[in-house]
Amino acid sequence: MAYPAGVDERERRMAQNEALFREVNERVQTLAHQLGPGVPYEFLCECANADCTFRLRLPVSVYESVRADPQQFVVLPLHYTPEVEELVAEEETYWVVRKTGEAGEYVEQLDPRSR
Ligand SMILES: [Zn+2]
Repeated sequence: MAYPAGVDERERRMAQNEALFREVNERVQTLAHQLGPGVPYEFLCECANADCTFRLRLPVSVYESVRADPQQFVVLPLHYTPEVEELVAEEETYWVVRKTGEAGEYVEQLDPRSR
């Protein structure tokens, strides 16, 4: 798939990384659903840092509501890259970020739910 021209390589990699972790979480979420939507479950941090392997706990129902917007990601508090995303919500155990501009369009294309 084509990436919009004018977005630099570093931004592209960061967006791809977040989209990759999201794909993993999609599978986690399918399993977690069997436990019940209100049960906290471990998801991977979806931040832009490719080396980040931290996990965060949140109820499946919360993850589901974040994912309802294909440009939103769940990350650990402070795992946030202001150049490519904006902060949507700050909770005690996780933050919600939204990709902005062309990075936002790109991750929308990468969303497994929009294929
Ligand atoms: Zn992270």
